[in-house]
Amino acid sequence: MKYEIEKRTLHFKQPAGTSRGVYTTRKIWLVELSDGERQGVGECAPLPDLSCDAMEDGRYEMLLEKFCQRLCETGEIDYEAMRDYPSMLFGLETALRDVRGKKENGRCILFDTAFSRGEVGIPINGLVWMGNYDEMLQRMEEKLEKGFRCVKLKIGAIDFDKELDLIKRIRDRFSFHEVELRVDANGAFKYDEALYKLELLSQYNIHSIEQPIKQGQWAFMAELCRESPLPIALDEELIGVNDKEMKSHMLNIIKPRYIILKPSLHGGMMGCREWIDIAKEMGIGSWITSALESNVGLNAIAQFASDVYGDNITMPQGLGTGQLFTDNIDMGLDIIKDRIILKT
Ligand SMILES: [Mg+2]
Repeated sequence: MKYEIEKRTLHFKQPAGTSRGVYTTRKIWLVELSDGERQGVGECAPLPDLSCDAMEDGRYEMLLEKFCQRLCETGEIDYEAMRDYPSMLFGLETALRDVRGKKENGRCILFDTAFSRGEVGIPINGLVWMGNYDEMLQRMEEKLEKGFRCVKLKIGAIDFDKELDLIKRIRDRFSFHEVELRVDANGAFKYDEALYKLELLSQYNIHSIEQPIKQGQWAFMAELCRESPLPIALDEELIGVNDKEMKSHMLNIIKPRYIILKPSLHGGMMGCREWIDIAKEMGIGSWITSALESNVGLNAIAQFASDVYGDNITMPQGLGTGQLFTDNIDMGLDIIKDRIILKT
């Protein structure tokens, strides 16, 4: 096999706010593998300041080259060597599956599932940014009109009392039969006020809250998970926890209700599968989400989710961010109502 690495800069349609600031562009590396006959492409998309394998471009490319060379020499991914480089691992896993997988009407079948064959969609959550009440009401109505039944709100950005009031008013307007609400605090709460805030939020029939406090405070997070009436989902907490034993250890201590898996950040497909299996054994639920990848990455994540959870996924996944860039790569993905689909 031969490889090529292509660096690209993607441009956001609208600046994207994340837990680590606002991005207007997004750097990714596409890995193209070829066995002389067939080609495969995968996306390596580390998030600056967030990924455990985010580093200066020159060093990133050097390491990626090294892993690609080894893959081309041996025909295998060196999973143990790549454990601490999830964004690179995810790109190589995708490219290798693509080069070896079936092609159907030009689409790559990375996993042989009903989703990958274009037969079923995967339910996803809509994302509504915090704003004033009228803006949020309008955004919520737009989402529901489109057919979304699960909406995620980013909180922790403005004054908490205001956010709470907004959620109350949204709940007054839309019952939990109409819309499942998830909130994501991106670590914004201080530990000593977190439980009180979770109790206040829990009045409004919220499905779950992502990362109420900053990662790296296992004992505090464990206590919140024990005491909180609102189910807690870990997200940033999983970053950099790449050893299998450490994953069990962490989940055993914190005992969250859910974990959220992002292949680019949380160990590639191999590492995410490991997380999901360990969690499942402990009765911890999970869902999979994208992390601002282009459609190359999103396509792989969606197909991966359909392989992990099967053909009849009911738990909404976080795969709705595919329409972010002005210069995205067309992979035949579409969103119909509240489902991401592969067009046939
Ligand atoms: Mg999150």
